[in-house]
Amino acid sequence: MFRGILIEKDEQGYRAALKDIDESLLPEGDVTVDVVYSTLNYKDGLAITGKGPVVRQFPMVPGIDMVGVVSQSDTGKFAIGDTVLLNGFGVGEVHCGGLAQKARLKSDWLIPLPKAFSPRQAMAIGTAGYTAMLCVMALEKNGVTPEKGDILVTGANGGVGSFAVAILAKLGYSVVASTGRAEETAYLHKLGAKEVIDRHSLSEPGRPLAKERWAGAVDSVGSHTLANICASIQYGGTVAACGLAQGMDLPATVMPFILRGITLAGVDSVMRPIADRETAWQRLADIIEPEMFDDIATEMTLDGVIQGANDLMAGNIRGRIVVKVG
Ligand code: NDP
Repeated sequence: MFRGILIEKDEQGYRAALKDIDESLLPEGDVTVDVVYSTLNYKDGLAITGKGPVVRQFPMVPGIDMVGVVSQSDTGKFAIGDTVLLNGFGVGEVHCGGLAQKARLKSDWLIPLPKAFSPRQAMAIGTAGYTAMLCVMALEKNGVTPEKGDILVTGANGGVGSFAVAILAKLGYSVVASTGRAEETAYLHKLGAKEVIDRHSLSEPGRPLAKERWAGAVDSVGSHTLANICASIQYGGTVAACGLAQGMDLPATVMPFILRGITLAGVDSVMRPIADRETAWQRLADIIEPEMFDDIATEMTLDGVIQGANDLMAGNIRGRIVVKVG
């Protein structure tokens, strides 16, 4: 038996609780790990609260991210004692995840923990920070350089947003942070935002084309916000879109695409090939300074996870939650 969060769904309804879990519940895999740290992402919040259809198999251990130490290995890729990192690949959705003391995984999904980071630091970054890095890489790939102008980051107090602000500022971009939490303005300036704007200025239905304002944007919000961003991207600019915190709809027109040649770059972290993951994590290791973690990350243990998930869904969490499991 091992301790972990278990999500069940049956005639008694949908529920998540901290429980003793039998090892027989662990799915097939060629590597077993003792989880050291995990984290709570937006997707984990949806899974634990049942607010979104993230879990597609029951019972399920949530947790799309983890760092663990290999305790059993049937592959030559990883040996007992290696510390490994996992982000996504359907873990915590269709394959038991990181919010438990043990996990059994496929070695194809794992990368060695980057030397630059402790397990806690890697989980403070987690899928949110790694996705922020992928978004920045999408802007770079499309030629959005710092001298082109301001970059907008939405959901700036969230996990993806906080890291996007910090990474872009460190790379020399001029960052404008959009948030619904004006009381966190000092935090966003500390991460590197030069200006903070109210998210309500972006969240209502807008015109098909607006004044050209942003050279690029990282959007974790979707819906009218993303439509309004597209309408105000400068000629040839790019929006990296990764999230749906406002909604999954996109009530936009083709006008910014056909008149301004803008690019809407979709960013997925879950099924991203290993080579891209290694590049993104190496970039994070080069960019992130250890003191950033003190501002961005709050720590809890498995006992606090259910409440933490509710707080995350209520928009009460700033930055990232790391979960000490081991
Ligand atoms: P968080 O909960 O940490 O942050 C979300 C932020 O969005 C909030 O902090 C808030 O920021 C803002 N927000 C919340 N509700 C609304 C709303 N109704 N309208 C506008 N803004 C809102 O989540 P994450 O940062 O972990 O994830 C953000 C999004 O990105 C999620 O939709 C998630 O599913 C997605 N995602 C996608 C990935 C991919 O692979 N494509 C990977 C990781 C995340 P503020 O308080 O500053 O306004």
